[in-house]
Amino acid sequence: MAVRRKKSQEKRIAQERIETLFEMAEKEAMKKNWTRANRYVDLARTIGMRYNVTPGPDLRRKFCRGCGTFLLPSVTARIRVGGGKVVCTCLKCGRVTRYPHVRERRERRRGRERGSTGVRKTPEEAGVEDL
Ligand code: ZN
Repeated sequence: MAVRRKKSQEKRIAQERIETLFEMAEKEAMKKNWTRANRYVDLARTIGMRYNVTPGPDLRRKFCRGCGTFLLPSVTARIRVGGGKVVCTCLKCGRVTRYPHVRERRERRRGRERGSTGVRKTPEEAGVEDL
């Protein structure tokens, strides 16, 4: 009889491994060990595919979906904010990823409730640097 696999447990472990791999990738990227950083990203994606778990929204922004490069702002990625969106360009393959600037939008909505027009923030104020 086949060993019963606990799927939910497997997924949780896979998720943890993915997170750890991204942390390691970030450390290696800081040290400019790009081969290692990208290898960790690659491993994280492989685990994700095998166990059908996707990296969380924060992690998904940390690598290029085109070439798998770990995206370190100003080094391998160019981050620009405009029109309520964050535009992330991979400097290796040129792939552009856009995603809504949730934090900024949430604050604007709050501002509207108070009756103000909501002042646009600079990327620094909006906390883009820690993406
Ligand atoms: Zn790329």
